[in-house]
Amino acid sequence: MRTPLIAGNWKMYGSRERVGQLIADIRAQLDPNGRAELLVLPPFPYLGLVGSQLDGVPVDLGAQDVSAYSEGAYTGEVSAGMLADCGCSHVLVGHSERRTLHGESDELVAAKFIAAQAAGLKPVLCVGETLEERDQGQTEEVVQRQVGRVLQEAGIGAFSDAVLAYEPVWAIGTGRTASPVQAQAVHAVIRAQLAAEDATIAGQVRILYGGSVKPDNAAEILAREDIDGGLIGGASLQAESFMAIYRAANQVC
Ligand code: PEP
Repeated sequence: MRTPLIAGNWKMYGSRERVGQLIADIRAQLDPNGRAELLVLPPFPYLGLVGSQLDGVPVDLGAQDVSAYSEGAYTGEVSAGMLADCGCSHVLVGHSERRTLHGESDELVAAKFIAAQAAGLKPVLCVGETLEERDQGQTEEVVQRQVGRVLQEAGIGAFSDAVLAYEPVWAIGTGRTASPVQAQAVHAVIRAQLAAEDATIAGQVRILYGGSVKPDNAAEILAREDIDGGLIGGASLQAESFMAIYRAANQVC
């Protein structure tokens, strides 16, 4: 059985004070008997602070983006090696806000995925369709193209050390959530795509759902067979809602 993972994407929110309080509140609500794993993804400047507060605490640290390059004259970029050096174990690649607002292509996302693994990080590969694509019946095609590019570049073996996140773009930060049936259907498509290459790896890889997950809809979504946790944006900025989702994962997964 796959261990559920609840990941908090803090996006570009926070301050030293807010971040410190959030971590203290998360720590206070950890369940020593809980099965779910936790991952927090603060903005770059707070990685060191959060990492030091998580020392010895069973909550993983990750970043929201990474450069495809290992080092060099790439002003403003942060390499995977630097993230690993700062205590990160995970990094998001291909979040829809990077794909749409920063024009990241499938090719670049695949390069970031490979760069992350080369530095020992677990990439969390985000995929998902826009509302227009869903309305045109292209959901499967889009998601399979996004996953397929990484499969093509990195190979199926790379997925044994990675996490996937299905995040329909129309559900991110909008308050609209894919229904559990809609989400499960896409998760099953992704797993089948991986299974066509390697059934064992496909059976083990965790596929998170992201898109307006809140305490009141978490249990229903997380109970689905192919949904192995959540990538949480807005609701991860308050310990109360983030940890309510974590508790739901402990109960249903
Ligand atoms: C996200 O940022 O990945 C996300 C899913 O955001 P939200 O939960 O706010 O929709």
